[in-house]
Amino acid sequence: MAGSVVADEPAEDTGDVAQHSRSTGRFAITFDDGPDPESTLPVLDRLDDLGVAATFFCLGSMAVKYPDIVREIDARGHDIGVHGYDHMPHLLRSPRWVCHDVLRAKAEMESIGITVRWFRPPYGVISGTTLAVAKYSGMDIVLWSAWGREWTTADAGEVRDRITGRLGNGVIVLMHDADTASPAGTWRVAYDALPMVIQAASDHKLQPVTLSALLD
Ligand SMILES: [Zn+2]
Repeated sequence: MAGSVVADEPAEDTGDVAQHSRSTGRFAITFDDGPDPESTLPVLDRLDDLGVAATFFCLGSMAVKYPDIVREIDARGHDIGVHGYDHMPHLLRSPRWVCHDVLRAKAEMESIGITVRWFRPPYGVISGTTLAVAKYSGMDIVLWSAWGREWTTADAGEVRDRITGRLGNGVIVLMHDADTASPAGTWRVAYDALPMVIQAASDHKLQPVTLSALLD
């Protein structure tokens, strides 16, 4: 339903996935803050190597600079959502600003030829206006239920452990394919962790799929 919120705040830490019955099924890997040719393209190549389809929440302010990268994401079979135009928390902005930002981002994606069904607000911060503009524009808000917080460490193994500790059927994983809103090098930690996450998922018979495959 347009305007509804999918995947609420991260669940309680559930420990190693092997200890739980939620170890068969499907989950979605999502990437925020791109597109950026320096980082998004290597991430796309790595996903191809791994045979994985993911979902990219693009910023309008980056998409306007790199529309060909957005088209490339689409052409390689990934899903695309929108992450706002500028990367600002909605609770610190006026309702007018939030409406303008979200609608501008959606319009930018459409001008590139991409129809977006999902919106992820920056930092996962949701105001009343966030909900209203998502509903008005026909988008569902999608948050996440597992993340590696890769901006806090250079250790890809740590990122893997944070993600796989919450992995299970229906889980939505948040990673980053660009450093737009995080310290330089953040994307590379996610890039390094990606094959390890996929291996851990495979060990537990969890298949990574796009959001449309997971949610439809
Ligand atoms: Zn972000």
